[in-house]
Amino acid sequence: MISVSQALDHLFALAKPLASEEVPLIQAAGRVMVKPVQARRDQPPFAASAMDGYGTINPEEGQKLKVVGEAAAGHRFDGDIPAGSCIRIFTGAPVPDAVTHVTIQENVTREGDHIVVNDLGSGDNIRPAGGDFRDGQTVGAPRRLTANDVALLAAMNVPTVTVAKQPKVALISTGDELVMPGENPGPDQIIASNTFGLHAMLRDLGALPRLLPIARDTEASLRTVFDLVDDADLVITIGGASVGDHDLVAKVAGDLGMERAFYKVAMRPGKPLMSGRLGDAMMMGLPGNPVSAMVCGHIFVAPVIRALMGLARSAAPRFQTTLAAPIAENGPREHYMRAEVSPNGLTAFEKQDSSLLSVLGASNALLVRAPNDPARVVGEKVDYIPL
Ligand code: AMP
Ligand code: MG
Repeated sequence: MISVSQALDHLFALAKPLASEEVPLIQAAGRVMVKPVQARRDQPPFAASAMDGYGTINPEEGQKLKVVGEAAAGHRFDGDIPAGSCIRIFTGAPVPDAVTHVTIQENVTREGDHIVVNDLGSGDNIRPAGGDFRDGQTVGAPRRLTANDVALLAAMNVPTVTVAKQPKVALISTGDELVMPGENPGPDQIIASNTFGLHAMLRDLGALPRLLPIARDTEASLRTVFDLVDDADLVITIGGASVGDHDLVAKVAGDLGMERAFYKVAMRPGKPLMSGRLGDAMMMGLPGNPVSAMVCGHIFVAPVIRALMGLARSAAPRFQTTLAAPIAENGPREHYMRAEVSPNGLTAFEKQDSSLLSVLGASNALLVRAPNDPARVVGEKVDYIPL
């Protein structure tokens, strides 16, 4: 058996980063920008008023000033502002060079075309030119673009970005017992569930998943479904990957030319994991047990998808918290225990069977236990992966 981190290294070695493409900014959220971009202007491009008020020159408390003009957003004031005068000014308006302060309107009394300054307030309420960013300032890559990033790039006047292509992922469920949600299962059948969970996970990661028809437990059926893989970058099979009589995935993928690496990974839940290259695609064979498949999704598939999109080749990020309830000693495999993190700390669920989707659904974290980790008491620090 190999460790989880050794298995990840094998997977990263098989994951070739995808080509890039240029997309309009409106389609960029969630994509991985692979080329840095530079701001095309200063922001703000001029000293700008931060408030609605009056543009004043070294104002003094009690001073009476004549209002000689107006500056609004999109409309600068170009005239003179002689001593003893000021201009009306609004948020976002260019501040004339002569103006030293924007005295907010709440701090003045207006009388006809004059104001009286009642209170100087604090600060000058002027945003300096380039105070947000400067022309040429860089946003680095690779980076998965968030909504906030998109707002920044738009302000930088960057209309298109170079992003990694989205990995096309073919998902294949295997098993005579499986039917699709909404169908009428026979007495010995269950609903294909983790296929849908993995599809959802892949979408969240920024991939383009596609559900293939369920393959039955015959070589012919598996071969038929593999024929539908088409131009996928990654083929994920679920189930049929251990060494039971009905576990035909390795055999059929091998017949189709997969250079196979089959690992028994020292982890719970999970354990059997198949991987290799199948033509131009990478292949991963996940265990069928619903929770095992989903945990392998978080631990192996997500890092592989990030690697395919050009992001850092690293394991799922871990955080630390304290235990809110004791845990017994761990066995010889790395254990990803379904758990709940709250402000009081982390509590592992009592039931940890790898078929219990209800427990996974109630979890917001995977508690990571090292092999042979001793029993631990309330208050001890532990590692977890947020879900
Ligand atoms: P297998 O790895 O094919 O031996 O499957 C292990 C267990 O997972 C069996 O109980 C299967 O019925 C179940 N299983 C396999 N594939 C799926 C799936 N796509 N959705 C839900 N359960 C599955
Ligand atoms: Mg099966």
